[in-house]
Amino acid sequence: MNFFEFRKEIKNKNASVKELTNEFLNKIETYNPKLNAYITTTKQKALEQAEYIDKIIDKNESLPKLAGLPLAIKDNLCTKGIVTSCSSKMLKNFVAPYESTTTKNLWNSGAICLGKTNLDEFAMGSSTETSAFGVTSNPWDFDRVPGGSSGGSAASVAAGLCLAAIGSDTGGSIRQPASFCGVVGLKPTYGRVSRWGLIAFASSLDQVGPITNNVSDAAELLYVISGKDSYDSTSLDEPVPNYLLDLDKPIKGLKIGLINQCFDHPGLDPEVKSSVLNSVEIFKALGAEIFNVECPRFNDGIATYYVIAPSEASANLARYDGVKYGFRSPNCDNLLDMTSKTRSQGFGDEVQRRILIGTYALSAGYSDAYYKKAQKVRTLIRNDFDNAFKNVDILLTPTCPTTAFLKGDYSNDPLSMYLSDLLTVPVNLAGLPAISLPCGLDKKGLPIGLQLIGNVLEENRILNAANVFEKELSFSTTKPKLQI
Ligand code: GLN
Repeated sequence: MNFFEFRKEIKNKNASVKELTNEFLNKIETYNPKLNAYITTTKQKALEQAEYIDKIIDKNESLPKLAGLPLAIKDNLCTKGIVTSCSSKMLKNFVAPYESTTTKNLWNSGAICLGKTNLDEFAMGSSTETSAFGVTSNPWDFDRVPGGSSGGSAASVAAGLCLAAIGSDTGGSIRQPASFCGVVGLKPTYGRVSRWGLIAFASSLDQVGPITNNVSDAAELLYVISGKDSYDSTSLDEPVPNYLLDLDKPIKGLKIGLINQCFDHPGLDPEVKSSVLNSVEIFKALGAEIFNVECPRFNDGIATYYVIAPSEASANLARYDGVKYGFRSPNCDNLLDMTSKTRSQGFGDEVQRRILIGTYALSAGYSDAYYKKAQKVRTLIRNDFDNAFKNVDILLTPTCPTTAFLKGDYSNDPLSMYLSDLLTVPVNLAGLPAISLPCGLDKKGLPIGLQLIGNVLEENRILNAANVFEKELSFSTTKPKLQI
């Protein structure tokens, strides 16, 4: 069900918002034990919010933009009075004392909070396997991962356990799970959405964005969560356009660039490649003009990202010291003992690996060789995109080199896991908006994702192209059959 269908149900008075919310809550109860998409459900909050909207409907008063829409929130966004764990033992019992700007905007617009979804610990990972609360299953094949780090959010949308979800994307964590689960995921321009209340991973890369059943739902959510926020100095003071207005505009004459470096990469699965190239033919038939473009530094994105992101993470995660909040190791002898025991027991292996890499890359004597060099390559990657956008309007790549892999395939092989982010991280390094949308299924019946990248603040362009393509392909109605 998408926003349009949900609203039709309410409008025709087939059901009240409370009844529909209860349907979602019941479905969560049935399927979540197997899927593990939610790590907290917020039944009471959901029903209170639903009753409030039903009252507005009864009084025939005008409804807020997202009235009654039941959503799931990635558990790294602070929700006041509700546990916000980042899927880490470190924050297992942390009840957020304040509301993130994103969720505040959603509740003020009438949306309903069904619960908090599973993620890789502190959003570090590509499979949701680093969560301290167990892996999430991919609704298309329960033996496979849903992608990560917003795996719980993408799985809950694909499985129909919410109408839409919110994720965060530092190096691909909205787009890669959206691709693995056959749904739409949008990472906005850096600064388009406030990061206030998003638990920091790598602050110069983190962005919040929607994961939805279709492109127009993503456009609606983006509108509500975007805008300047005095609590986040990096949020952009630029007007927020109505992203729905341009959605159906014909794309005749739209210039789409195919990045050669992505299509020539040896790690790209041939089935993914051919499905994405078939999609290019659809874009052509819709009137788009296709060009090949060079982004010579594109494939250096992984090496660059895996220096910059851990460096920022090592600084951001210094706050979890057993003193201020969260987990504290019991029976410690002194302050040093407490800090080191708290951090080694509270963080999982992947988080500790990132802290070690980041601390090393920032340390005196090494920061010129690693951190500063990575920052220089980051500029070169951005320059490549700037040059490409002189000739084309948007860029097109696969979202991931492969479809969803089996649980356990890479859990002991971090370098192979990192390669899964090959096609998404350059976009974060350059601060650009990008959307992943399904473009077909492989022979195993697993979804394949297509990525459209836009220039700074040109979300409307990628949403327009994605929407026109989606209508032509009509994949958005294809859903996995859930087994219990
Ligand atoms: N998979 C990437 C990582 O492990 C990206 C994570 C993210 O976007 N939060 O860092």
